[in-house]
Amino acid sequence: MSTPILEVRDLHVGYGKVEALHGASLTVAPGQIVTVIGPNGAGKSTMLNAIAGALPAAGAARGQVMLNGSDLTGVAIESRVARGMCLVPEKRELFATMTVEDNLQLGSYRRYKAGERNYGDQLDEVYRLFPRLKERRKQDAGTLSGGERQMLAVGRALMAKPRLLMLDEPSLGLAPLIVKEIFHIIVSLKETGVAILLVEQNARAALQVADYAYVLETGDIALEGPAEQLANDPKVIDTYLGLT
Ligand code: ATP
Repeated sequence: MSTPILEVRDLHVGYGKVEALHGASLTVAPGQIVTVIGPNGAGKSTMLNAIAGALPAAGAARGQVMLNGSDLTGVAIESRVARGMCLVPEKRELFATMTVEDNLQLGSYRRYKAGERNYGDQLDEVYRLFPRLKERRKQDAGTLSGGERQMLAVGRALMAKPRLLMLDEPSLGLAPLIVKEIFHIIVSLKETGVAILLVEQNARAALQVADYAYVLETGDIALEGPAEQLANDPKVIDTYLGLT
C-alpha cells in the first residue's frame, strides 16, 4: 500500500481539564475522500483543528499526526500548510471588505513568499472549478451568498495547492440545492487528485461522496468502514440517516 497522505494515531485533545477527544486514529489514502460524521459536540471540529495545528489557546493535543509519512509533532500551522495540508474552518473566515479575487490571492500568499510567482495557473484552476467565483471576482466577499462564501473559502484553500484538504461542515447553514452543488464540487475536487478529509453533520450526503467513513461519538471513534458499508449499517441508518 502507498504511504497514506494523513495518518492520525491515538489523538487526544483536552480543553483545560476536560478531554474532548479520547484517542482517535484515522487514515486518509492518496486521492480518497474520507468523512467523519457524528452529532453536535462529538469532537469533530476539535479533531480537525488539532490535525491542522489550529487549536484555540485552551486546547492541548497529544498523539501522532503524520502527513505523507512525516511526523508533524511540534510543527506550526504555517509549516503544515507549506507541507500540503489546508483546513477550511467552519466559520469560513473570509475578508469581507476585500474582493473575491483578493481573498483568493491571499490563499497563495505562502507560495508567493516562497518565491513562486505563477499563481495565475492556480487561479485559473479555481475559476474553472467555481465559475461563479469568476463571475463575481470584483465583488466584496462580504456581499456573497452563503453558498458563494463557502465556494470562496474552498477556493482560497486550493490556492495553496494542498495535497490534503480538510473541510469542516461545508454544508452548514446552506439551502438544500446549494448543499447539493457543494457536494458535487467536492467530488470534482477529488478528481483533481487532492485527498479530502470531510467533517459533516449531513451524514447522508457525506456518505454518498466518501470512500471511507468514521463515526465520532463523544470523543471516540465508534464505528468505521467503507462509506457504502456504513450507509447500509442499521445503527448508522437508525441514528444518522433516519428512515429512508
Ligand atoms: P459541532 O458539530 O456542533 O460543531 P463538533 O463535533 O465539531 O460539534 P467540537 O466543536 O469539536 O464538536 O466540540 C467537542 C467538545 O469540546 C464539546 O463538548 C465542546 O463544548 C468542547 N469545546 C470545543 N471548543 C472548546 C474550547 N475552545 N474550550 C472548551 N471546550 C471546547
